[in-house]
Amino acid sequence: MRLVLLGPPGVGKGTQGKRLSEANGWPLISTGEMLRESVSQGSSLGRVAQALMDQGLLVSDDVMIGLVEERTNEADAKNGFILDGFPRTVPQADALEGILRERGQVLNAVLSLSAPADEVVRRMLSRGRSDDLEATVRKRLKVYDEQTAPLIEYYRRLGRLFEVDGLGTMDEVHAGLCRALAGAASA
Ligand code: ADP
Repeated sequence: MRLVLLGPPGVGKGTQGKRLSEANGWPLISTGEMLRESVSQGSSLGRVAQALMDQGLLVSDDVMIGLVEERTNEADAKNGFILDGFPRTVPQADALEGILRERGQVLNAVLSLSAPADEVVRRMLSRGRSDDLEATVRKRLKVYDEQTAPLIEYYRRLGRLFEVDGLGTMDEVHAGLCRALAGAASA
């Protein structure tokens, strides 16, 4: 299956995505992780990305679309993948539709994880990444509300949205995602 994990920063997409990936054998493609790798390699993309990430801003659609187009075309993603952190804007979502359509593929489901803003802020501040300072965290949530949250409606209209409660224990959230996946598989 080809899946997208959608939800605000700090909601648990990375943790849950890893578990779904291990349970099903589809690679987890995290654009945030890909960018952090470029940063640690000191590539030119890494330098640009770090400055934007540290301000809570998004890397350009063109760059992100190119990265995802390449990564989803690799051999391990042939039978499915889980995207975490992409798409984050409507142009990215449109591009993903186009990329898959060209390959004769579809996005099977968008699993939307939700949690209240004060909870995601608390989680981000407790994990302590370099872009997890309070001002940056607030900025990232604002960018999420403005640019990414509209994707919930976007995928609802396409009939591909499955909503899952991101509160609760890791096991409870995982179970919720598995139920949503079962629903998507039988849809
Ligand atoms: P979180 O899940 O906490 O939002 P990520 O690890 O997904 O964080 O992403 C960290 C940063 O990487 C984002 O704040 C943004 O600057 C950049 N980034 C990741 N994915 C994208 C994307 N699809 N488009 C633009 N910027 C992105």
